[in-house]
Amino acid sequence: MAHGAKGSALSHLECPKCHARSNADVVAQLCACGSPLLARYDLERVASSTSRDEIDARTDTLWRWSELLPVRDTANRVSLGERATPIVALTGYGARAGIVSLAVKDEGTLPTGSFKARGAAIGISRARELGVRAFALPTNGNAGAAWSAYGRRAGMEAFFAMPKSAPPIHRFECQAVGAHVTLVDGLISDAGKLVAQWVRERGLYDASTLKEPYRIEGKKTLGFEIVQQNGWSVPDVILYPTGGGVGLIGIDKALAELRALGWIGERKPRMVVVQASGCAPIVRAWEAKERASIMWEGARTAAFGINVPKALGDFLVLEAVYSSDGFAIAVDDKAIVAARDAVASDDGMLLGLEGAATIAAAKVLRASGWIAAGERVLAINTGSAFKGWMTPQGPLD
Ligand SMILES: *Cc1c(COP(=O)(O)O)cnc(C)c1O
Ligand SMILES: [Zn+2]
Repeated sequence: MAHGAKGSALSHLECPKCHARSNADVVAQLCACGSPLLARYDLERVASSTSRDEIDARTDTLWRWSELLPVRDTANRVSLGERATPIVALTGYGARAGIVSLAVKDEGTLPTGSFKARGAAIGISRARELGVRAFALPTNGNAGAAWSAYGRRAGMEAFFAMPKSAPPIHRFECQAVGAHVTLVDGLISDAGKLVAQWVRERGLYDASTLKEPYRIEGKKTLGFEIVQQNGWSVPDVILYPTGGGVGLIGIDKALAELRALGWIGERKPRMVVVQASGCAPIVRAWEAKERASIMWEGARTAAFGINVPKALGDFLVLEAVYSSDGFAIAVDDKAIVAARDAVASDDGMLLGLEGAATIAAAKVLRASGWIAAGERVLAINTGSAFKGWMTPQGPLD
């Protein structure tokens, strides 16, 4: 194989709640106890057969991490050309906010315009490997756009439930590649109930966030990339716009695997959950020092990708924040739009609203002294600016 990439070191699935182990080579959904399952690897084998230099020498796609991904046979890989995404310094906005080293990792450059492509590339590839032919999931839009595109390439049939209020561009993206989209009068949680019913009645593969173990394995590559692009070191602070939280859990899992391999030191970046003040269940739980969140009633924000009132993996997100001495913060839609406009004006970069939320949060945390002036701060722009530009009513005010 090109550049010496080696096969997957996937060994088994493990439940982070009840610690049960299970076979990774059959279709799996949740653990019997109701918790998401996580993929585990034979890290000793990886450490003894692969090196950081070897990874550096490979082409910069997410498949360069093949040993630490679940897809065993290269013939099952489904790809739309997902390359490593750029880290862009925000020197103008950073100087004004008092953060010397502020940068954005721009996930809007991925196929289908958001970091959901990482989860879909690996989730679909592994589903194909395990013989899945049709799947369903609830989506606010970007997950649907990504899973429909990769699903089509794999020849699968896709069924989505999507809130009516989701930006219409997402519906068009899904339908353009042949997915079945059902609009739901309600939130993503209501869409989730409909999907659960389809899964029960039609025996579809449930590709909902964390209800299958491999989407997170794709999102994990975001964490690998951050480290590799930083010369195999971690920033001081990572800000993540948190909906279901899979990206944040993925980064945390990636860093844990790299620490176990001895490829990075023990120091952790402080992980910051950023939510919109109109939908901030994880922030509320963190402020009350809880281990899990409760449903946020009346959730509403223009940053649609993070309009998730209750996340299945909330306990893993909170654990990642607590164990890294991190923070959880909510910013309102006005501050989000103002941050988007400020970065556009200061640095010529147009962020998605979710990414802009992390920039607004960085400024608040710097002003409060929680972020120090010289710290290396990395914000994640999870999706392209164009995705959230239009609401059903027209351009955002
Ligand atoms: C899905 C999504 C998020 C939230 O991602 P999670 O990892 O599920 O928290 C943030 N931003 C955008 C643009 C998204 O599409
Ligand atoms: Zn369990």
